[in-house]
Amino acid sequence: MRPVRAAFLLVAAGFTMVLAAIVGLTARATDESISGFSTTSVAAQRKLEQRLLHYPSAERIEADHLYLTEEPHVAGSPRDRVLAEWTAAEWKKAGLEDVRIVEHQVLLPYATEVSVEMTAPKAWRATLREEPIPGDKDTSADAGPTYHAYSASGEVSGQVVYASSGNPADYDWLEAQGIDIKGKIALVRYSVPYSYRGFKALTAQRRGAAGIIIYSDPADDGFGKGKVYPEGPWGPESHIQRGGIVYDFMVPGDPLTPGWSSVPGAKRIAAADAMSLPTIVSVPMSYKEARVILEALGGPETPQTWKGGLPITYHAGPGPATVRITVRNDDKVRPIWTVTGRITGTAEPNRWVVLGNHRDAWVYGGVDPSSGSASMMELARALGSLAKDGIKPKRTIVFASWDAEEWTLTSSTEWGEQYEEELRDKAVAYLNVDSSASGANFTAAAVPSLNRFIAEAASAVPDPASGVPITDAWKTRGMKERGSLPTGAGDDLVNNRLGSGSDYTVFLNFLGVPIVDMAFDGPYGVYHSMYDNHQWVSRIGDPGFRYHAAMTRLWGVMAMRLANADLLPLDYRPYAARVDEFLNDVERRWPANRFERARAASGRFAAAAADAATRGASALAKNDRTALDGINRALMRAERALLDMRGIPGRPWYRHQIYAPKPTYAPEVLPGVAEAVDANDAPRVRQQEENLAAALDRAAAVLKSDHGTGNQP
Ligand SMILES: [Zn+2]
Repeated sequence: MRPVRAAFLLVAAGFTMVLAAIVGLTARATDESISGFSTTSVAAQRKLEQRLLHYPSAERIEADHLYLTEEPHVAGSPRDRVLAEWTAAEWKKAGLEDVRIVEHQVLLPYATEVSVEMTAPKAWRATLREEPIPGDKDTSADAGPTYHAYSASGEVSGQVVYASSGNPADYDWLEAQGIDIKGKIALVRYSVPYSYRGFKALTAQRRGAAGIIIYSDPADDGFGKGKVYPEGPWGPESHIQRGGIVYDFMVPGDPLTPGWSSVPGAKRIAAADAMSLPTIVSVPMSYKEARVILEALGGPETPQTWKGGLPITYHAGPGPATVRITVRNDDKVRPIWTVTGRITGTAEPNRWVVLGNHRDAWVYGGVDPSSGSASMMELARALGSLAKDGIKPKRTIVFASWDAEEWTLTSSTEWGEQYEEELRDKAVAYLNVDSSASGANFTAAAVPSLNRFIAEAASAVPDPASGVPITDAWKTRGMKERGSLPTGAGDDLVNNRLGSGSDYTVFLNFLGVPIVDMAFDGPYGVYHSMYDNHQWVSRIGDPGFRYHAAMTRLWGVMAMRLANADLLPLDYRPYAARVDEFLNDVERRWPANRFERARAASGRFAAAAADAATRGASALAKNDRTALDGINRALMRAERALLDMRGIPGRPWYRHQIYAPKPTYAPEVLPGVAEAVDANDAPRVRQQEENLAAALDRAAAVLKSDHGTGNQP
């Protein structure tokens, strides 16, 4: 899964431009420095990057993509297992070591029956099926029932109420009109910008609705945006967005093992005690079918902003449309498979740079996630080929193919929980790519310590369409969107407000590992539908698979820089600046408190970050190995120090004091403090400010120490 973003048009250009650009870039780059590399090691790095840039084959990536998307491969299915074995076999061929398939047994209920019937004012039964498109064989296959993972099982009926996006404010408006949602069926739309569907389910559940239908309005991802598939990238009338509605913003991973791993023999809680499991019945629907229900609604006309793209008058109800929803799940615990493999570092084998992408898809997973899986497979071959020629990374590079990400970030969470101690000790950073390419627009989200690193790496790789470095294409677009000039440090290019929605969550929020999440985005209206398939990607999203290859190059450059840098490219100065900015945010919402304690701690964190940068630069200039080792350990551990092992109130799994997801998956920065402010709870605000200040002081102490020991949380 990966939130749908604002989309832009893409430009096309010849493949030869890319090759010319690579030659140009590398020729220009050889005499340039790379942050974190000494003058003696930079030449070798530039040389191996040149090989890395030339290695990826768009043809090979396209062939892998075709294989990955050949059949539906939902988590735990036989085809998912076949792809896990294929991934392992190809990684072995590529030369990865210690390739293994790690199994976890997790709650993974498949729906056996899903139906929506209108009983008044007329009898009608929704097909809940997506229609075949001539010329696209994948769309004539039976992809099984369309459903929301972890919906409650049951049969509910009631009058329908249209509640726009299904946010709390929407129900407030209904209430003001005298429309009570209790015991009724909420009909809400998927929203763009993205809001997690689980939040819609939770809100309806809290308001007492009997059930919820979430549909894709054409204004959001269909003909209201532009041409629909097969003519264009947007969702055709019968497309259905499947997806999880689990409350993983409370705790992700197997709902029956919250906070520990689903290894054989693990303790399991009862489903009734699982805080992440919804108690409401929920189904997804196309706009073709939702229209039938919307047209049968009476009651007041909705506010203008609630009106979607259908050529009808949107009424709020309640009724007279009345529907019965039935959902039956098999409630089975199923095996899922994480595939891992590594290239062992020559100098620091116990330092890990972890790369990951999920393999499971809702149906074929053209963009989400097979674009990322195909880019990662080519990256394994590229790094494997270098290793076979004796060009091995100094630190270990670990590859991970995750499973059941679409359900509740499941296998990455279980794996992260299983290897918690080892990862806390060894992980340098985690680089996540979910969907690698649905278009040409590079986007990156990361902890602020990696801003400059990302901007620098992206300037070493050409944008396939324009031939200019990705960073330049990215800056030009950013300038057009914001009307402001970017800074050189990449601070304003990289999104430092981190929520959730993909496999980086366990690394950031549970383990305290610096993370990057990146993609090439474009207009994309077929998310989690059967139209997200090979044909969509090869004809519309990324013809020629050039952006898939660009992702392989960029991911590889980033991995090898993190693995080989003399001084780890983790710069905490922008982190401290961001914390100040986040404090401004909460202060605006809590004028009673100036947060002086947290401000002072943030100042100490900033000073320690500056001190670490100075010591790092000096050790690098002298090529002082002992000093570099100590500073690197400190840079690695500073992120861990931002965890509070007690977690944030009500969500003990979410330990990070700077970041957590809101229930919408949107970022909640300084979550402990921010949620105390929202609760208007002054003593809790003070307590959470203390915890935040203590975390910043721990990070400052780690950064100032020569061994990265400081005060561990
Ligand atoms: Zn995904």
